[in-house]
Amino acid sequence: MSGLVDRFGRVHRDLRVSLTDKCSLRCTYCMPAEGVPWIPKQSVLTPDEIERIVRVAAAEGIETVRLTGGEPLISPNLVEIVRRIAAIEGPNGPVEVAMTTNGIRLPDFIPGLEEAGLARLNISIDTLDPDRFAELTRRDRLIDVLAGIEAARRSKLRPLKLNAVVMRGVNEDEVVDLVEFAIEHDAQMRFIEHMPLDIGHTWDREEMVPREEILAALGKRFRLEPLGGRGGAPAEVFGIDGGPFTVGVIASVSAPFCAACDRLRLTADGQLRNCLFAREELDLKGALRSGASDEGIRDILRAGVAAKRAGHGIDSPDFTQPDRGMNAIGG
Ligand code: SAM
Ligand code: SF4
Repeated sequence: MSGLVDRFGRVHRDLRVSLTDKCSLRCTYCMPAEGVPWIPKQSVLTPDEIERIVRVAAAEGIETVRLTGGEPLISPNLVEIVRRIAAIEGPNGPVEVAMTTNGIRLPDFIPGLEEAGLARLNISIDTLDPDRFAELTRRDRLIDVLAGIEAARRSKLRPLKLNAVVMRGVNEDEVVDLVEFAIEHDAQMRFIEHMPLDIGHTWDREEMVPREEILAALGKRFRLEPLGGRGGAPAEVFGIDGGPFTVGVIASVSAPFCAACDRLRLTADGQLRNCLFAREELDLKGALRSGASDEGIRDILRAGVAAKRAGHGIDSPDFTQPDRGMNAIGG
C-alpha cells in the first residue's frame, strides 16, 4: 500500500527529478535570453542525496523516476545517477528510469545511459526548420537535436516520445510534418499546450494553441482514433490511420488532467513540489543536510502529498504563476 495517497485519493507513483536548472538552449517559453537566477552550485543535490530521496520515495510507492531539468545531459553526474536509481527496488520491483531531454549531445551518451539502466527517453523538438529553431531556442542547434533523435531511433530505448510545445504563429503549421517525422523515427509525437511557466511571464492565453485546434489540424491529414486507457498519464493518445503509430496531446490548460495526477517533483536544489504550478515547496535538501532520518524524509514526502490541491487553478481568478520558471521546476 502506497504511503503517498492524497486527500483526493490520488496515488503518487511518478517522481520528476530535476538534475540542473542550466541548459544548452534558451527556449522562449521556458527561459529568458539572459539574466537567469541560477541555482548556486553548492545547493544542487549530489548523487548521494538524490539516491537517498529516491530510495525513500520508492519504499513509499514511487515506481517511475523521470530525470529532467534544465537539461539533464549537462549534469556531470547523469550516468551515475541513472545507474544508482535503476538499482533501487521498490515494493513492486525496480524503479523505472526515464529522461526528458533536448537531445543535444545525446549520441555520446546513449551507450552509457543504456548500460546504466535508462529505460525510456522523451526528446523535445518544436520545429524542423533550422531558422525557426534558432529563433525559438536562441541557439542554432537543430542539427544536434536531429542527431540526438537519430541516435535514439537506433537505440533500444522504447517507447520513444518526441515533445513539441505548439505556439501560434511559430510552429502551429508544422504539426502534420512533426507527426510524419516522429513516425520515420519510430516515435510517438506529443503536442503540449503552452503553459504559463516561463521566467519572463510572457504567456498569453489567446496565443496558446488549444487541444481542439491541434486535433483539427491533424484531422485534416490523419484519421485519429482515441485510444483511452490513459491512467495518470498527461497525454491523451490517438491511433493514426488505424495504427500502429500514435500521437499524443497534452492539454494541461484547456483540458486539465489534475484529477488523475500521480506526479511529484524534486527540484535540482532539493525542494519538493506537489504540482508544476505549486506556490509552496518543502525543503528536502535542508532536511537531508541537517541529518534527517529516512522517516524524516518520508514524512516530508507525505506532507507534500497531503497538501496537494485538487487542481492547478490556471482558470481561477486568483491564479498566480509560480516564481520559478520551467527550467528550475523541472518539466
Ligand atoms: N531540457 C529538456 C527538454 O527541453 O526536453 C528537459 C526540461 S524541459 C523544461 C521539459 C519539457 O517542458 C519540454 O518538453 C519543454 O518543451 C516543456 N516546457 C517548457 N516550458 C514549457 C511551457 N511554458 N509550456 C509547456 N511546456 C513547456
Ligand atoms: Fe532548455 Fe528544455 Fe527549457 Fe528548452 S525547454 S530552455 S531545452 S530546459
